Amino acid sequence: MFICIFDENKTFVMANQRVQAYFDVLHRTPKPIEFNGKLSEVFGENVFHSEIMREYLPSEAYKSMMKATGSGERLDRKMADQVASAMKDWAITKNATHYTHWFQPLTGTTAEKHDAFYKPVGPGKAIERFDGELLVQQEPDASSFPNGGIRNTFEARGYTAWDPSSPAFVIDKTLCIPTIFIAYTGEALDYKMPLLKALHAIDEAATGVCKYFDKNVNKVQATLGWEQEYFLVDKAWFNARPDLMMTGRTLFGHASAKGQQLDDHYFGSISERVTAFMRDFELESIRLGIPVTTRHNEVAPNQFECAPIFEECNLANDHNLLLMDLLEKIARKHDFRILLHEKPFAGINGSGKHNNWSLSTNTGVNLLAPGKNPKSNLQFLTFLVNTIKAIDVHADLLRAAIAGAGNDHRLGANEAPPAIISTFIGSQLTELLNKIEKNVKAGKMTPEDKTELKLNIGKIPQILLDNTDRNRTSPFAFTGNKFEFRAVGSTANCSSAMIVLNTIMAKQLQDFKVSVDARIKKGDGKDEAILKELQKLIKESKKIRFEGNGYGEEWVKEAKSRGLSNLMDTPRALQAWDGKGVADLFNDMGVLSPVELKARQEIEFENYIYKIQIEARVIGDMVQNFIVPAAVAYQNKLIQNVQGLMDVLGAKSGKVASNAQVQIIAEISEHINGMKEISDKMLVARKKANKIQGHENKAIAYCDKVKVHFDEIRYHVDKLELLIDDEEWRMPKFREMLFTR
Ligand code: ADP
Ligand code: MG
Repeated sequence: MFICIFDENKTFVMANQRVQAYFDVLHRTPKPIEFNGKLSEVFGENVFHSEIMREYLPSEAYKSMMKATGSGERLDRKMADQVASAMKDWAITKNATHYTHWFQPLTGTTAEKHDAFYKPVGPGKAIERFDGELLVQQEPDASSFPNGGIRNTFEARGYTAWDPSSPAFVIDKTLCIPTIFIAYTGEALDYKMPLLKALHAIDEAATGVCKYFDKNVNKVQATLGWEQEYFLVDKAWFNARPDLMMTGRTLFGHASAKGQQLDDHYFGSISERVTAFMRDFELESIRLGIPVTTRHNEVAPNQFECAPIFEECNLANDHNLLLMDLLEKIARKHDFRILLHEKPFAGINGSGKHNNWSLSTNTGVNLLAPGKNPKSNLQFLTFLVNTIKAIDVHADLLRAAIAGAGNDHRLGANEAPPAIISTFIGSQLTELLNKIEKNVKAGKMTPEDKTELKLNIGKIPQILLDNTDRNRTSPFAFTGNKFEFRAVGSTANCSSAMIVLNTIMAKQLQDFKVSVDARIKKGDGKDEAILKELQKLIKESKKIRFEGNGYGEEWVKEAKSRGLSNLMDTPRALQAWDGKGVADLFNDMGVLSPVELKARQEIEFENYIYKIQIEARVIGDMVQNFIVPAAVAYQNKLIQNVQGLMDVLGAKSGKVASNAQVQIIAEISEHINGMKEISDKMLVARKKANKIQGHENKAIAYCDKVKVHFDEIRYHVDKLELLIDDEEWRMPKFREMLFTR
């Protein structure tokens, strides 16, 4: 029971944050949206897509624009002016008053700076203006964005430059233009620019390899289909928890008696309030051309997932960022807060963002889908085996790409893939690769050998999905017609993973082509050369393939014996950027220069330090200001009670009657002392860490010397939560945050 306090006007006044929150949550009602039309009719209505361009642009400008979106050809100034003017005219029909370059600085979120279309031209007179110059390039005051040492403050200029391959859109009466963000000296300060470069690299390398099979292929696109997981909590709970507000996750909280053990949330019916929220953000997403189709309850209570149909990688990534932004905004409208953090609540599942990835050609072929005949299947196998090989050689880079303070709680915690990178391909393909490994003979193959192998290859069933999708514990699983990178964190900009994946794949395909060409030059037939090279790659990359349970202890041991890395924390994972040949790899593939690469690593280390630092501070504050006062208040009540019993019953029998109370009093003291002792230790460790020069060493100190105390402190706090009178406890409990709707 809670005691509600009313003032003289009979209005509710603050009792404590938790009681107040309870009161608020109980009075929430669903806020359904008014929309009864067809989604297909509103799809993309807020996007300046090609059909709109055709309508708004003169035909010459339209053609130039199509070229710019397709092959990245530059628009000249006159065309840019025409496009800008058309964009503005269209945006105004959508009630836009402002425009912004929309970019992806290395903070992890998106950034925008709005400017109005209108321009005063005389007293009381103004016009609407937007020209090519404003469209193509801008100079935001960018000195406060992370740059990893690339920019000195005296040269703090940064530029945003239009990415015509991702269409402009209108949101909140503002025309948003997707852009890259670069330093005055040309280095990338964002995620988009290296992503575009990696996509260009994979296009070239994959097209080169496709030519072995089909001369008509002249473009290969990487495709990305992400699946976004998130939690919802009522805003009242959120605001009553400083840890949620400051860090996006709960730093304390005893598990509720019921968590996810009954599996009754997964795919369960979605509550009315949550449905209203989902319909709202989906409608906005669909209007913005984000093809969201799937929604369901996830495993943990109040955890959900949203997934669109896959798209070209750059566009898909923009859409994911836009969606994360929409989730945040629309959740507020429904009195929820969205938790995108990888691990908002201990003891129940955290959130990830599966990155489904494949490659598709201009001829409409998915290169990771088994084909209809031996020829197309040889192509499929070529791309499959080269992917496996790329993962094998560069596993540590993929691990580094998904590193972050939040994801450290997930990887290897028996709910998400382990920190060990491996790949799963299913039993049928494993069998096939084993056959190729054994049956391709050295030297010239006889026609019979070739036929037999080709027959084998031809036998791959087109639908492998059932067979391959069973293992949910693999970080990088083949799922029938794509790979699914499951270790990506829910807050991540998918670009991090996609830059690495597409770059290492491009490099691998390049090397593959060189080797196959050399074999052909030496006299092998084309198929024979390809098969022999595949055989070699299959043998070399065997250790990265793992079909068993990725969550088991056994795998940790086996992986170690195979020589695979198991990088359990962010600072260690980030060291991979210093690995041998890594700077050359990114430089040679034209994706990131050594300076850019180093800057990124610095930013990641720094980011890690700040995140842990903030968490440590919040822990300190909450212990002092929430936990100790509650514990002492309850302890005082008990002390009074004990004293009362002694008075009433007399010293001796009073003592007997108050045994249990005295025990609780002592336990509370023990936990207060324990908490205080460790908090003090943590404070000393923080002060020491802060003095360390260099981000890498500092990040390691924060990981090994500061973060290690988090769970020790939490242990005492969570025990106190169980001991102390519910009424004294001011922080919303897990059962409340997770089960009230
Ligand atoms: P789940 O992992 O929840 O079982 P799926 O494995 O079916 O779901 O994943 C579906 C996701 O994979 C969707 O986002 C879908 O768009 C994406 N996807 C399907 N084909 C491809 C492809 N060729 N390239 C990239 N993504 C794809
Ligand atoms: Mg999936």
